[in-house]
Amino acid sequence: MTAPAQRDDLAATAASLTPVLGRYFERTWTHGVGHRLYDTAGKAYLDFANGIAVTALGHAHPRVTAAIHDQVDKLIGPVSAIGFAEPISRLAAALDATFPDPLDSVMFLNSGSEAIEAALKLARRVTGRPGIVAFRGGFHGRTFGATSVTTSNLNYRTGYEPLLPGVYFAPYPSAYRDFGGDEEAASASALEILRSLFGTVIAPSQVAAILIEPVQGEGGYVPAPVSFLRGLRDLCDRHGILLVIDEVQTGFGRTGEMWAFEHAGIVPDVVCMAKAIANGLPLSAIISSCELQERWGRGAHGSTYGGNPVACAAGLAVLQTIRDENLLANVRARGAELATGLGKIAAEDDRIGDIRGRGLMIGVEFVRDRGTREPDSSLPDQLMAACADAGLLVLTCGHSHQVVRWIPPIDVTAAEIAEGVEIFGETLAGLPRD
Ligand code: PMP
Repeated sequence: MTAPAQRDDLAATAASLTPVLGRYFERTWTHGVGHRLYDTAGKAYLDFANGIAVTALGHAHPRVTAAIHDQVDKLIGPVSAIGFAEPISRLAAALDATFPDPLDSVMFLNSGSEAIEAALKLARRVTGRPGIVAFRGGFHGRTFGATSVTTSNLNYRTGYEPLLPGVYFAPYPSAYRDFGGDEEAASASALEILRSLFGTVIAPSQVAAILIEPVQGEGGYVPAPVSFLRGLRDLCDRHGILLVIDEVQTGFGRTGEMWAFEHAGIVPDVVCMAKAIANGLPLSAIISSCELQERWGRGAHGSTYGGNPVACAAGLAVLQTIRDENLLANVRARGAELATGLGKIAAEDDRIGDIRGRGLMIGVEFVRDRGTREPDSSLPDQLMAACADAGLLVLTCGHSHQVVRWIPPIDVTAAEIAEGVEIFGETLAGLPRD
């Protein structure tokens, strides 16, 4: 071990950090202001990555920062096991108000993975059934239960078997990749395979939960067709299965509705949320009906840190800002501009195979050949690096990093969208074809 005093630069300090954590860039960030992130050289980057959909209101948002400062002086310590505290109860009520009935009972936790763990435990205990159905290409986190339902990349699972038993995977309806863009065909096929799973592999009476991302995130920014989510709701109703929606990446207005499941007009049984909930402070939650949580039972689950008062104060400021600034309308308008701008680039560049998404959650999939749709797994990473050099942060996703994902802040301006699209288009045009 090297004593910290012997190190004289940031790179040497970082050498003590684990090499296990994946990171998109090797830059060191000093601060963020609004929608710009700054590195140690003082260079500003238009931040359309947001720590992967976390700082959805940008950096140092005045209302969020003020709420944090105010709460820090009153009460920091986690109190959930000790009693109540105002920001925690108020955030629960404010979240409850964003959901349709009967979703009205909130449990706070710390991370997306923890929210998934809680939902899985709730589903098994409440239904008394072992089975969990999840979808191929899904990402739900890195704790053991969450890893067990994650298949977006083999690296998340390799070497960790045996994982949670009782997990069954069905195909996620991928219109572009498997059905030439035909959403209804993708939906019908995926529902048919699910029915056949229930007829041949596990009886639906043994299934506690169906767990799905309404738009697959890490898996490549693939929206589930509306008819598919409705079909899942029907299947769950018919067989007494809980429909658990993972809104960790899609939530808080990202898709143009407060919750992405709203696009399908369905009401889930359990919703998991995290990331943008407190604009950067660690916090997550699940919501279900109070009746379900009562059946789960007192002491059936818990968390020392879940519902930290400072994080909850930030969460309240986030919800108030989304409402007061009418940000859902902004997401729809800016999302349409972004899709149009990207569409113009795709019209000139056949390396882009597909542009898809909802609101400000848009994926650009790169292919080696538009006809075969063979994924291009090298260009997007090069493009991401070159965009960063040009002052724009966008990230890749998808099984083989074949997709560049756009996750701008939800209060992004039209000028910033235009700036991002311009940098992206020019940078792509400058990258040679191989
Ligand atoms: N679910 C989804 C849809 C996610 O995108 C993520 C994080 N990328 C998680 C769960 C896990 O969240 P966390 O990293 O906070 O555990």
